[in-house]
Amino acid sequence: MAITGSCCCGGVRFELFERPLMVGVCHCSRCRKAGSSAYAYVRAEAFSWVAGRALVTRYRPRPPFAFDRCFCRRCGASLGDPFSGRIVAIAAACLDDDLGLTASFHEHRPNQPSWWEDRTPAKDK
Ligand SMILES: [Zn+2]
Ligand SMILES: [Zn+2]
Repeated sequence: MAITGSCCCGGVRFELFERPLMVGVCHCSRCRKAGSSAYAYVRAEAFSWVAGRALVTRYRPRPPFAFDRCFCRRCGASLGDPFSGRIVAIAAACLDDDLGLTASFHEHRPNQPSWWEDRTPAKDK
């Protein structure tokens, strides 16, 4: 059975044909402001749109920043970037069910805001 994911309004829906390879949390200011810090890494061929592909808007930052940010233009939910690379980084928060995954790494930990209470020592990248 496929793993499903969706945005807040339900307009955008996708599915994964296998479990994510891992989850990683990025504490950089850009991920924080985009409203997406936890990413599930999925092989691109295991990702498929179910609905709402036309609602997905892509924000492409100016260099030197590299990572595109996708979001639902109706509800604003951050979707990660399901388009780039052989392994795509999708917003783990958009997965519909808890898969029991734990974060394999945290990066940009020094930028982690103080209101983020979970400071369990995880491997820093
Ligand atoms: Zn939406
Ligand atoms: Zn980041």
